[in-house]
Amino acid sequence: MPLLRKIALMFLLVLFVASWTGVYAAPDAVPEAKPVISLPKITSEKAVESRGISRQLELSQVRWANHTEALTGTAMMRLVMDVSGPVEASGVVIAGPTPRLSVTIKGTTPGKAIEDLTFDGKVIEKVSFDVSGQDTKVTFDLPLMVEDTDYRVFTLPSDAKANKPFRVVVDVNKPVPMPDFSFTTGLKNKVIAIDPGHGGSDPGAIGPSQYQEKTATLAVAQNVRTLLEKAGARVIMTRQDDRDVYGPNASAVDELKARSTAANSRKADVFLSIHMNAFPDRTVGGTSTYYYQKTKYDSMLARALQTSLIEAGKLQDRRTNPANFYVIKRTQMPAALIELAFISNPDEEKLLSSPDFQQKMSLGIVRGLERFFDQAAKLN
Ligand SMILES: [Zn+2]
Repeated sequence: MPLLRKIALMFLLVLFVASWTGVYAAPDAVPEAKPVISLPKITSEKAVESRGISRQLELSQVRWANHTEALTGTAMMRLVMDVSGPVEASGVVIAGPTPRLSVTIKGTTPGKAIEDLTFDGKVIEKVSFDVSGQDTKVTFDLPLMVEDTDYRVFTLPSDAKANKPFRVVVDVNKPVPMPDFSFTTGLKNKVIAIDPGHGGSDPGAIGPSQYQEKTATLAVAQNVRTLLEKAGARVIMTRQDDRDVYGPNASAVDELKARSTAANSRKADVFLSIHMNAFPDRTVGGTSTYYYQKTKYDSMLARALQTSLIEAGKLQDRRTNPANFYVIKRTQMPAALIELAFISNPDEEKLLSSPDFQQKMSLGIVRGLERFFDQAAKLN
């Protein structure tokens, strides 16, 4: 009899421990094995009105679960945070330096038991909890950029019957995966799409001496093409002369779509859009490169190009920056948009119109591409 009781007790204890250890993710836990909470269908999202909360509420517990849509195969992660009372929560995606989703939970402090979480990086890499004034800031480090439709932040009211507290829920979908890239070193046999910005009816920015952006972008693109072909690469040009890519008087989106489609349909390895910057203050100058981190290579490509362009042109380094530009977002391969210099700056306008400087920057671009393929090959 006592033995049987002992066994029964131990069995209960094991059950208890098993059910609770899973709920609390250890800081280094990788949420692979099994979901720890069920994913209820949310039928209504109850907005919580602001009620001028003066007391500080506490974030008492965090749970997470992975979920894969059976039909679409979309991977999703849900994070549920228990709060000691009703709060407001909102999220915003931050593009750089690395993609993040920043969720603010108003009038709360993370409880002592709340620890940062590290994941496998398929949907989320890391979740960290910080105090920001009166609020809790929950930062989700993401492997790639997400669209506004890829995440959801909402609250659930407390449910006394089900013994559930007030909750803040964050859902993040894994963005549609890009094809797997595997790069080799060197330029030989690479397919490079080059997009000379503007053209035809669209002059782009115009300098103080009337030099037009579309003229400089085409000159540099043609130089780059010659250099790349000499190195054994295949080049796709979105335009080869002074014309609109889609057609005159097309909408801006149709025009940009035509440019990204040229690269997508011909499976370019990388896409490079060439532009000149402009700013009302004519003293502003320098070189910058933009990327949209839709593959793991976009920022690497931008950095490689920027480094080589600064070495080549020696203008002010305005660094690499994330941006939402259509052509770098909608192309299906690593892409960068470079702003070689400021056409609005009289000195830089003069440089941009000189064949010497155009060739220097073209060499910089080609070295940047070489540098990129060397670095990307090491990631394989
Ligand atoms: Zn431009």
